[in-house]
Amino acid sequence: MKVAVVGAGVGGLAAAYDLVRAGCEVTLFEAADYVGGLAAGFKIARWDWSVERYYHHWFASDRHILGLIEELGWRDKVLFPRPVTVVYHQGRFYPLASPPAVLAFPALGWPDKVRFGLVTLYLKLTPRWQPLERQTADSWLRRWYGRRAYATVWEPLLVSKFGPYYRQVNMAWFWARVKARTPRLGTFEGGFQAFLDALADWLRAEGVTIRLRTPVQRIEPRPEGGLRLSLPEGQADFDRCLVTTSPAVLARLAPSLPPSYLDRLLALKSMGAVVMVLALKHRLSEQGFYWHNLPKAAGFPFLSLVEHTNYLSPDFFGGDHIVYCGDYLDPDHEYFSLSKEALLERFLPALPRFNPRFRPDWVRDVWLFRTPYAQPVPGLNHSRAIPDLETPLQGLWFASMSQVYPWDRGTNFAVEIARRAVRRMLEHNA
Ligand SMILES: Cc1cc2nc3c(=O)[nH]c(=O)nc-3n(C[C@H](O)[C@H](O)[C@H](O)COP(=O)(O)OP(=O)(O)OC[C@H]3O[C@@H](n4cnc5c(N)ncnc54)[C@H](O)[C@@H]3O)c2cc1C
Repeated sequence: MKVAVVGAGVGGLAAAYDLVRAGCEVTLFEAADYVGGLAAGFKIARWDWSVERYYHHWFASDRHILGLIEELGWRDKVLFPRPVTVVYHQGRFYPLASPPAVLAFPALGWPDKVRFGLVTLYLKLTPRWQPLERQTADSWLRRWYGRRAYATVWEPLLVSKFGPYYRQVNMAWFWARVKARTPRLGTFEGGFQAFLDALADWLRAEGVTIRLRTPVQRIEPRPEGGLRLSLPEGQADFDRCLVTTSPAVLARLAPSLPPSYLDRLLALKSMGAVVMVLALKHRLSEQGFYWHNLPKAAGFPFLSLVEHTNYLSPDFFGGDHIVYCGDYLDPDHEYFSLSKEALLERFLPALPRFNPRFRPDWVRDVWLFRTPYAQPVPGLNHSRAIPDLETPLQGLWFASMSQVYPWDRGTNFAVEIARRAVRRMLEHNA
């Protein structure tokens, strides 16, 4: 069977892995000039390791991606440090990831703290997310954690992820987040890109063709069966095709999908992301904090600051201290059109709030990454809104971040959904 995979993100690579092992002739088409999609990294001459364009780590519970790495025999290359995540409250940063940290958090009184522990424990233990998707996270969290804990901890987090849509997100999404998170955070020796490149090399060695800089422009059914892909240099025919892009891109590529399926694709909401990466001469958070959650009301020009080198040693990056300033935003937000220099001018004045000694001449290098498709927004009863992996166009399959629900998008679930789509495609064929 000749199969095309559109997108060489971690989902497309995982799909190609199963397809080639099942004996298919696989071609992977990727618009960019690198593999890895949203999880990809970049590297400059003075660094030994790559840095992810968008901050990335794995949880210890990420069994699908860690399982794939295990199958490939590379598990000894995965590291799991335990960095510190903090929330901002009235000018200071507080860790909240463990029971003793919650007990020490001054923003909550004792009744709030007890409630915080019990409700979190309930969410960790309950296996049933289905009833939770009928309520918004906003109403459920406000009710069960109480007004103060909600306003201090959870509401800022929902706002930072979902901006104007935060009140629409359903509670199953939050349940999945609590369920999957672990304090230890994983990465691959050399950075995520080292893993993605090694996987691409493995696939090439098994006979997969990876066509970088090759955006697929159209996917159409052939009257005699199978699918025809339009490419910059012409056309190519396949028996099956798996698309791993955003729903909006699939709708553009395959306009002959029936309106009912196209409507489903186009009804899915998502947020974009804007992330600036700074290479600094000195450490920013001297307390060694990794991830800073920032409430919008505190007036920061971004809603998370992630000091990568408080997670991994700056020695891997030629002594540079790597800091991400990021935000999830609607793709029509002005941050998507401002130049890197203009955005840096907005961001720099906030950095002394993390270290009063910070000076602009600490900045060695700056990179800016933006994507319109970063975080799906799951509304009420979202399970009914998800388009099936098998599209109504014969032979055309779709596996994206928008379908991994109730789980939050991530490389782990990109692997899970891509492998599930391939399993179904092959069963279908049997
Ligand atoms: C800010 C941010 C932080 C994140 N943090 C984490 C994290 O800490 N841990 C984690 O596990 N995950 C994280 N994620 C999520 C993770 O990156 C994604 O879930 C995962 O990479 C999705 O993989 P994918 O293969 O489904 O899609 P993508 O990575 O989006 O891959 C799709 C590919 O399709 C290509 N493409 C698009 N159109 C075409 C076309 N017409 N023709 C050919 N190719 C095309 C794209 O270039 C892309 O390479 C984060 C994402 C963001 C944005």
